[in-house]
Amino acid sequence: MKSMKPQTSDISHTDVCIVGAGPGGALLSYLLNRKGISTLLIERQPHLHKSFRGELLNADGEAILNKHGLYSHIQEQGVLPLEEIQYWEEGNILHTINPDADKGEHHVGVHVPQDHLLQAITSQTEALSPLHQVRFSTIMTGLLRDKSGHVAGINVRQNGVPASIQASVVIGADGRYSAVRKHAGLVPEIRKHGYDLLWARIPAPPGWEPAVRMASMDGQQLALFSQYGGYVQIGWNIPEGGYTQLRKQPFAPFVGKLVSAFPCLADSVAAHIKDWSDFVLLSVESSYSSRWADDNVVLIGDAAHTMTPTGAFGLNAALEDADVLSELLIQMAEDHFGSTDVLQQLQAIRGSKVQQQLARQLQMESSFQQRYESFR
Ligand SMILES: Cc1cc2nc3c(=O)[nH]c(=O)nc-3n(C[C@H](O)[C@H](O)[C@H](O)COP(=O)(O)OP(=O)(O)OC[C@H]3O[C@@H](n4cnc5c(N)ncnc54)[C@H](O)[C@@H]3O)c2cc1C
Repeated sequence: MKSMKPQTSDISHTDVCIVGAGPGGALLSYLLNRKGISTLLIERQPHLHKSFRGELLNADGEAILNKHGLYSHIQEQGVLPLEEIQYWEEGNILHTINPDADKGEHHVGVHVPQDHLLQAITSQTEALSPLHQVRFSTIMTGLLRDKSGHVAGINVRQNGVPASIQASVVIGADGRYSAVRKHAGLVPEIRKHGYDLLWARIPAPPGWEPAVRMASMDGQQLALFSQYGGYVQIGWNIPEGGYTQLRKQPFAPFVGKLVSAFPCLADSVAAHIKDWSDFVLLSVESSYSSRWADDNVVLIGDAAHTMTPTGAFGLNAALEDADVLSELLIQMAEDHFGSTDVLQQLQAIRGSKVQQQLARQLQMESSFQQRYESFR
């Protein structure tokens, strides 16, 4: 039987089409809807649930969410302020870093489950603009171009069916493997950091106070983050590309190192980390696109600059980008999207801070062992 070519099922029109309902895309959609700008947010997943994503909010991210009246809605869903950063050795605390009261700090970061962040922002967007909804299960597959080659929107597969969305501006908020970036020819410079990361999430021991706990394991960072809901997330740095070799070793001695660093985790580890499949491997890299915008296409968040988990900058940087870009898009809307030059300003405004954070991550990663030893 001859196969049928799938038909384009639907053409939508919007002023701004945002690809990716992560923190950057969701916040931008809220800020534009608040100004009555026609906006469509598409997301390839069928829901907002994410596991193993950036969930530590820093003061910059918290300030933006407060500025736009969103933080209290996120708090209602549930957040966990972390009280201190502890450096551990062989089951004892070597050194503690407390919030800087002189700077008005009450915590060293806030754990915000990404579900709570995204649900709160999207439900506030719907409250402003009841017709707004995230278009789920919709994957951006390419850019729609007019006869002159100018970007006129995007092509998608929506529940597997090809469709087109016409838009005056396309935003790539689609994360570290951005399809928008690829189709717009905005090439990132990728940097490896010499380590990969094993993640696991287990119930926290009873009475475990909310904190970040660090240990040095075979010269690599082993970090525990208290999480809302009574969990602890484990982030264990291993040598880059070393996981295949690691898995050839017996599992019990490996996980035993975790328990020797944090003996109070013994019961929870025994019950929840039984073999290698209880860890998730994250291949660590950072990237920076030399250009964040081309004509009427612009990138934000991880699509423009992927960060490593060190220092918990990525989520917060995506929120900052969305905040700045919303102002630029509001200017463009006043001009009926006549000129796209204003989009170049995003990188001019945000680029240097992002590059400082990328440099800071490298510095924190290379000095971890030295910093740790200074506490002995
Ligand atoms: C394991 C891990 C831990 C981290 N820890 C922290 C932390 O503690 N603090 C911190 O600040 N940062 C952290 N980060 C970084 C943080 O998660 C990211 O920087 C942040 O999520 C970036 O937000 P974003 O909106 O740019 O992109 P993302 O959160 O990546 O969202 C992109 C969205 O686009 C969707 N998408 C992708 N492609 C398409 C497509 N073709 N069509 C439609 N939709 C698409 C994806 O499904 C996704 O929902 C961590 C990252 C990882 C991987």
